[in-house]
Amino acid sequence: MAYQWPADTDFALWELDVLDRDCPICGRMMYICDHRSRRLHTLEGPVELICKLNHCPDPGCPGHAKTKSPELEVTIAPPHWAIGWDVFCWIGHRRFARHSSIPQIQADLRDDYEIKLSDDAIAKSIRRYQVMLAARQQDPESLRRHYQAVDQIVLSIDGLQPEKGHETLYVVRELTGKRVWFAEALISATADEVRRLIAQAKQWAESLGKTVALWISDRQDAFVTGVAAEFPGVPHRYCDNHFLRDVARPVLEADSHTKVQMRKKVRGLRKIEQAVLTDRRTSGPESITAHDPNGALTPSAGPANTGPPHADPAGDVVLDYCAAVRGILNDDQGGPLHPPGLRMADALTEVRDSIQRDLDVKKGASRRRNSVD
Ligand SMILES: [Zn+2]
Repeated sequence: MAYQWPADTDFALWELDVLDRDCPICGRMMYICDHRSRRLHTLEGPVELICKLNHCPDPGCPGHAKTKSPELEVTIAPPHWAIGWDVFCWIGHRRFARHSSIPQIQADLRDDYEIKLSDDAIAKSIRRYQVMLAARQQDPESLRRHYQAVDQIVLSIDGLQPEKGHETLYVVRELTGKRVWFAEALISATADEVRRLIAQAKQWAESLGKTVALWISDRQDAFVTGVAAEFPGVPHRYCDNHFLRDVARPVLEADSHTKVQMRKKVRGLRKIEQAVLTDRRTSGPESITAHDPNGALTPSAGPANTGPPHADPAGDVVLDYCAAVRGILNDDQGGPLHPPGLRMADALTEVRDSIQRDLDVKKGASRRRNSVD
């Protein structure tokens, strides 16, 4: 069931890339062939995930017909979910550690996080959570079928703590087959407990007969030592999504401050617009009724324009600039990779350059006129 997002929802944009871009069949570097976007609730607010899809550029390769999604997508939210892992864990924790009812969970999500979910959606998450903790996907036969066509697997481990000081849900996922392998809620995990989970993942991989090509995590100490001990020689990569969010926090704070400063500086749009409109009213009705009869307006309203009464092209340009600048100042889109303040600064610079170009053209035109005179 598609989730209905209000039209004015302010989504943070998160872009995800494919990490391993070698074609799994021929080994060529894959190209981005498409983008897929999905929207979901996180405890940090609504997010639009932009997933860059890759495929093999060689039309003769079977890898050409298949697209590969970013590996990390599943660590943010499994396919078709309208909520991220953090919301999912939060719901599970509320239900099983605090024994909250579904209406309570629903009200808290709405009041504390502005997340509106139906009771059906919450009930479904609770069932999923239960199943995940019971690890019923462990059915070895179905797992074997699922991984039949896969040679190498990529594992990730993540500790999700929905509320500080409470238990953490440790989730081990396999990213190639987009499967949650198992999860366990631990109040305070020691390095040994974490290692036990990693050892369990090793058993699973061995029983499937698959090679683990890579581990991905946020590289907490216990993950680093556990993976190194159980999977010697297997590369362990920092989850760039985690990394990005950690790095992004101070960046976004600074960015938001800059945005406020820019908005303070770029002011007086209304005044300019009103001046144009007042000017039009006082310069007589004919100048408005004669508005652009054949689209042959000269772009500059210099003193040379002494033809028949015409509309106010210069005023139109000014109003267009005002509208553009207002749009720029109100644009809050962008995530850590495209901080909104930076986008705002770029866009305002473009406007300034554009105005400068207009002025240069006008100056050049009057100079030419002078030399002709
Ligand atoms: Zn290929």
